[in-house]
Amino acid sequence: MSTPVQLWALDGGRFTLDRGLMVVGGSGTLTIPVPTYLIRHPRGLVLVDTGLAPAAVEDPEGTYGPLATMLGLDFTEDLRVDRQIEALGFAASDVTHVIISHSHFDHTGGISLFPNAQFLIGAPDLSYAFWPLPAASVFFRSADLEAARGFHWRPLTADLDLFGDGTIRILLMPGHTPGNTSTLVRLEDRHVLLTGDTVHVSEALTAELPMPSDHSTLDSVHSIRRLKDIAHAHEAEVIIQHDFDDWNRLREITKVSG
Ligand SMILES: [Zn+2]
Repeated sequence: MSTPVQLWALDGGRFTLDRGLMVVGGSGTLTIPVPTYLIRHPRGLVLVDTGLAPAAVEDPEGTYGPLATMLGLDFTEDLRVDRQIEALGFAASDVTHVIISHSHFDHTGGISLFPNAQFLIGAPDLSYAFWPLPAASVFFRSADLEAARGFHWRPLTADLDLFGDGTIRILLMPGHTPGNTSTLVRLEDRHVLLTGDTVHVSEALTAELPMPSDHSTLDSVHSIRRLKDIAHAHEAEVIIQHDFDDWNRLREITKVSG
């Protein structure tokens, strides 16, 4: 029996950056969204990722250093994750579970806004965030996790069917980071596969291409193949988190089936 589940894509700002940072062989400049997702389930309100840190609205350089300029950070008060949740008629305190797809700064920024939620994350990402590969260290803001050391963390060492009914499945997809995850959501009429950062642009999915700063290129490629296998098995809509076309497609899908 299917359980009614509602999914929203929340706006969380923009980056404008060199496409070559996002996929091996990429060239030119690209503007990408930094979304999060909210899922209403009969047993809880689930947030997938927390976007950028609220402090970055007023002080992007103070919060992220040179990265703020390098990524052309475009982030305003109304795009804070808690403001986006409020715009849908909920409060941040209504959120019961937060899935952190991985521990990069553009996914961990709002963690401190949800002190009472349960946090689900691929287990290796907790330690990796504090001791990443030097080439990737710029993408972590350990302050986001330091502030949440006392929170309720559930580090995942295997895939998890969050409520045991097949509606929200957290899937380990290591490579981009050691604990990266994707989330498969079953709506009433279809499955949606939220990639996390398993891939960043559509050609990475098609041609199975990693990102230059991935933790493990080989694991990344294996995870992209797994992502495609799972999407095929469930006839799922694959929504690449940082892809504008997918972002718009998801907003259309959730208008209809949300
Ligand atoms: Zn990332």
